Amino acid sequence: MPAYDDSNIFARILRGEIPATRVAENDHALAFRDIAPRAPTHVLVIPKRAYVDFADFAANAGADEITGFMRLCAEVCAAEGVDPASGGKGFRAITNAGPDGVQEVPHFHLHIIGGRMTGPMLSLRD
Ligand code: 5GP
Repeated sequence: MPAYDDSNIFARILRGEIPATRVAENDHALAFRDIAPRAPTHVLVIPKRAYVDFADFAANAGADEITGFMRLCAEVCAAEGVDPASGGKGFRAITNAGPDGVQEVPHFHLHIIGGRMTGPMLSLRD
């Protein structure tokens, strides 16, 4: 796994150096709208501390951070009206990692995508 590069765009959003449309936050995580949304709801949830990707977060985050991150994801799904548990029509949660996962920003994040039919699970391309 590459070392964390704190010049990545999400680190800059966390430091307030560049703007983002924030939708929710707690002590451990921040949620903001994707700049190029693929659906009416396209929210990115990121931990506030520095983790490169899913494996880094899973291995190295504390229990409180992991709980805080997951709770914020659930809060966003409910607030966006996409959570089936509260009457929404559903959503897809995606995390990309590394070159094969086509991870563009090397700060762990979960995409929450909904508000429309999301289609087949994967569109593989060469
Ligand atoms: P990845 O491919 O790393 O999983 O996804 C990165 C996501 O970050 C993309 O969906 C892209 O549109 C989004 N993104 C890239 N730069 C910015 C930015 O400056 N602001 C926001 N809000 N989203 C960004």
